[in-house]
Order: sequence, then C-alpha cells, then structure tokens
Amino acid sequence: MEEKIRVKELGPDKPDLIINQQTKEKNKVYNLSFCRSWFERKSWLTGCGIANALFCFPCILFKSEKCDSTWTQSGQTDLKHLSERIKKHERSKVHMENCIKLAVLGNISIAAQLDEGHRVAVCDTIMCHAKEWFSFTKHLVSATLLQGDLFPQHHKMFPDSALDTTVEAYPSLDKARLKTELSLIYSNEEFQSCCGALALFQVLMENNLQDTFTETVSLLNILITTPMTTSESERCFSTLKSLKTFLRNTMAKDRLNALAMLSIEKKLTRDIPDFNTSVIEKFATQKDRRAKFLYK
Ligand SMILES: [Zn+2]
Repeated sequence: MEEKIRVKELGPDKPDLIINQQTKEKNKVYNLSFCRSWFERKSWLTGCGIANALFCFPCILFKSEKCDSTWTQSGQTDLKHLSERIKKHERSKVHMENCIKLAVLGNISIAAQLDEGHRVAVCDTIMCHAKEWFSFTKHLVSATLLQGDLFPQHHKMFPDSALDTTVEAYPSLDKARLKTELSLIYSNEEFQSCCGALALFQVLMENNLQDTFTETVSLLNILITTPMTTSESERCFSTLKSLKTFLRNTMAKDRLNALAMLSIEKKLTRDIPDFNTSVIEKFATQKDRRAKFLYK
C-alpha cells in the first residue's frame, strides 16, 4: 500500500520510446514512429524504455485478472491502431475502476476533503434547491442520476428510465459510456458522500478524474449551469418590473441592482439574524449624512 502511494507520487514514467512501424496502404509504405505528444494527451499512458512499448499506469498498479494484458504485460507497440486501442481501453470498466483506485489512493476520504463549513453551506443550498427541482419532475429527472443520497438505491437497481430520459434530453451524451460511468460511481462508496451535482463535480475535478468520467462531467456541466426551473429566471424579471414601477424615480443603476438582488434573495436576507439592524447601523455610522442619525 505505502509502496503504491510512493509510485502514485512519482507518477507515470514517460520515457522517450523508439517505436517504429511500417504500414502498407494502397501499395504505399508508410513509416510510423511514436510521438511524445500522446503522453500529454493521455495522463494514464506510460512507457517502458526497455520493452519500447506503451502501458497503462493505473492498470499496472492495480493489476487484476480482468485487466487487458496488452496494457499491463506485453505492452502496446501497434502504432497504426493505437488511437482505437486507447479509446477502447479508456472505455473499459476495469480501466475506469483502476483510475478511481488510483485517484483515491492515499487520500483522506472524499467526505473529509470538503471542509465542514463549506460542506454544510453547499449541501444545504443544493438540497433545498434539489427538493424544489424534483417537485417539478420530467425534464429534471436527469438530476436524480447524480443525487448522492440515491446512489445506494441506484446501485441496487440501475435507474434505466432516468438515463433514457436524460439521453433524450441531451442527445450529445454517449449513453453506453454514461451508463458504465454511472454504475461505477454508484458502486463506489466514496461518491455517496457527495450530496449534489456541484459537490460531485468538485470531487471529480480535484481527483483528476475528468478524463475517466467524460460523459458524467458533461452531464454535470449541463446540470450545474442550467437554471432548473424556468420560474427561476422568470421570477427575477417580475421582481425587476415591480421594483421599477414602485420606485421608478431617481433610481440609479447600481441601486436598482442592489434592490433587485435584495428582493430576489429575500429568503436569504430574512434568514440572516439582525440583518436589518446591522444595515441600519452601518448606514447610521456613515459620514456626511445630512441628518445626524447617531446620538453622541
Ligand atoms: Zn488502464
């Protein structure tokens, strides 16, 4: 175990490899040689200068019977089919599993990674929004796919219908790959502590798993950036309208913005104890007031 952590710190070896290959196509002979830029493109790729072949770093480290031996023992030398083989390997479940193992190796648990205060704040907001969203249903079904507290349930029975709805709504997602990624996430206890899309997204980014979970990350990007209900943005507009008619005269832009913000987020300001008192106090202590607010 400790040895593995040391290996992880060292990272994959990326030596200069000399792999040359001749290939014939339409009676023409091409010479292929290995290009170092592959190492930059695929962080998991490693090479052996003695064997002059390419290997998979996480798969070597966590080798099991399920692993494809061409990536762990014999090594890849076939440059002509390299990009296909890389793609195929990246999509394999074993490889993804090993990538997770590597990412969490030696880490304190993901739950502990998010510090307490941040966690409470983030979870609260997400949970309260999530509850609002889920009462809205249908096109929001996709969010349930990434709701941490549902993971154990999803692990027992994969939410196929939610996946179907999601892929229908966002056809750019690769369904087969997303399913593999999700089932891995569900089966891994580390992820269950992420309550909500944002937390999960952060965890994937912090652990450098964005290359492994490409489809999940795409879905997370969509979910994080879309306002979940159209009412969210509509509410903002109607607030602005009522503010404008109510206080139209002599309204500078920044004050309008500030008022709009206060009105839209009134739930937040209401929850701050003594919000009003502190605002009044701050206002009163400001200099250059025509009237004296403070009794000295
Ligand atoms: Zn691998």
